[in-house]
Amino acid sequence: MDANSSFDVIVIGGGHAGCEAAAAAARMGAATALVSMSATNLGVMSCNPAIGGLGKGHLVREVDALDGLMGRVADAAGIQFRLLNRRKGPAVRGPRTQADRKLYAAAMQAAIAATANLTVAEGEVTDLILEDGAAAGVILAGGRTITAGAVVLTSGTFLRGLIHIGDRRFPAGRMGEQGSTGLSATLANAGFQLARLKTGTPPRLDRATIRWNELEKQAADEDPQPFSLLTDRITNPQIECAITRTTPETHRIIRENLHRSAMYSGSIEGVGPRYCPSIEDKIVRFGDRDGHQIFLEPEGLDSDLVYPNGISTSLPEDAQLALLATIPGLEQVRMVQPGYAIEYDHVDPRELWPTLETRRLPRLFLAGQINGTTGYEEAAAQGLLAGLNAARRAGSGQPITISRADAYLGVMVDDLTTRGVAEPYRMFTSRSEFRLSLRPDNADDRLTPSGEAWGCIGHKRGERFAALQAQLMQARSLAQNLSVTPHEAGRFGLALNQDGRRRTAYEILGAGMASHDTLTVIWPSFGSIDTITFERLETEAIYAAYLDRQSAEIARVKREESRVIPADIDLDALPGLSAELRQKMRVRRPRTLAEAQKIDGMTPAALALILSRAHSLEAAE
Ligand code: FAD
Repeated sequence: MDANSSFDVIVIGGGHAGCEAAAAAARMGAATALVSMSATNLGVMSCNPAIGGLGKGHLVREVDALDGLMGRVADAAGIQFRLLNRRKGPAVRGPRTQADRKLYAAAMQAAIAATANLTVAEGEVTDLILEDGAAAGVILAGGRTITAGAVVLTSGTFLRGLIHIGDRRFPAGRMGEQGSTGLSATLANAGFQLARLKTGTPPRLDRATIRWNELEKQAADEDPQPFSLLTDRITNPQIECAITRTTPETHRIIRENLHRSAMYSGSIEGVGPRYCPSIEDKIVRFGDRDGHQIFLEPEGLDSDLVYPNGISTSLPEDAQLALLATIPGLEQVRMVQPGYAIEYDHVDPRELWPTLETRRLPRLFLAGQINGTTGYEEAAAQGLLAGLNAARRAGSGQPITISRADAYLGVMVDDLTTRGVAEPYRMFTSRSEFRLSLRPDNADDRLTPSGEAWGCIGHKRGERFAALQAQLMQARSLAQNLSVTPHEAGRFGLALNQDGRRRTAYEILGAGMASHDTLTVIWPSFGSIDTITFERLETEAIYAAYLDRQSAEIARVKREESRVIPADIDLDALPGLSAELRQKMRVRRPRTLAEAQKIDGMTPAALALILSRAHSLEAAE
């Protein structure tokens, strides 16, 4: 790349948000530069070596449905695939895999290298170039400049990152990597609301010093299911992890050293993730219980390191060593790297439009941990949306938004941009009001057609999706057209209510009364349906009645999201609107009725006024 060069889109940061943003912008045809501190750190997993889980697995499937990278990369790196919540309904199951850290970063770097229109540049971005109050490029340490039509900032935990281990603290982006201060100043000078958040990670352990034989094991699923539509099957060997627990002695050591923990000594001002608490938090908040569970997860197929999932900590090193020795299986363990907490700057996500463009600086987009979220999957999903919109902004296309009714990605962006965050935001299925329709199994149906219309779906996925849709339609039509009476069903050992009513195969499936094998015995043509298509059909049939009930609510949300409030609405022409709401409307500048509705203190009467003003402006045009 020349000393000073020009692109359509620049993405700052090569973490989970950045890689996805850069690839998405490039898929849209934008000439894209991915600028990161180090090219060998693209796709690095800062903390836990795992992708997916409850709520998060849904996001990975959605990223995949829009032809993003995370699902395929996790498939290439996965070493313990497990479907969480298997006993619950398909809507809330969580696909997850432990990942080999090295394989993950290597697969991500290969995917980035294989993406057309994408150039990787190494360096620290220290400042933004602004033109007419809008982002127009970046300045790197050393003075090199790159200009672009849109910039996506995905700096993760690096902005004014400060690591804490007991009373020791030092600036860093994550362990072993320098942080970034220049951009924090740029954002603060531009008037952005910055705040501090914190997260933590456990110590890393030497695999050879763990007494594996004495511990309970957890195996991978026998039939590992890939995340991506493009992955035929998982080829990595699947490994076991082990389970152990903290003991009363562990808890005593933690209590005795609490005043030395960075979090409890008052030296951390940032708020941590409630749903991913440190071991100190667990002892303070939940007490002894009967011990807290710890999963010992190998960091890779040939790695000497083990990640003890469940004991992130900011205690001093000597206390970390002492507490580890009280945990069954870890009596003789060698600590290779201590656990630590990190504090960093984030931007109030209410500063963003639902496209993830900032309201304050047009053409600047933010995605990932900088928006107050935590987790690789949350970062990747935001990165993807920001990348699509940055490409549109650099060209002349219309902004892309995703409804809460269509995706967890829509739920997350709506939550962030309308409610902000008081603690690191992570995804849960409970955050969606449309859980039954936003399932991992139907992410492709929900999003790939939109992706095709936006131009971000490659040829291979387009073909696969069309083939799968054709199979599903054929299976659906079969199931809806074949029927039996209770008497006929009885001859095949299927006990239906003897009411004389014919039931379709679809109804029988929806009532959970028959397996694939049973249906094939009754109607041999079911034998030609492959297992994946059959499972999709079955899930759809089970949820059909509920979804009919939900569809009115989905339609209402979509209607409100599409009712646009003109940007130039004259609020002073609405004397009925309170001064407080007028002020909030000026600050929030809601673009739709749905956004206005979420303004704190908004009343139905005020909404009616705004809507009628919007209608009269429309009529006058
Ligand atoms: P990152 O993955 O952090 O990537 C940021 C990228 O930006 C890096 O490539 C960096 O080099 C680059 N960069 C930053 N500034 C600049 C600049 N000025 N110029 C050029 N490049 C720059 N998540 C969980 O879900 N659970 C956890 O328990 C958990 N614990 C964590 C513990 C620690 C110690 C850390 C550091 C993170 C933890 N996370 C956890 C969060 C998870 O790592 C992040 O949510 C995720 O990596 C965020 O992705 P991102 O793309 O926003 O940022």
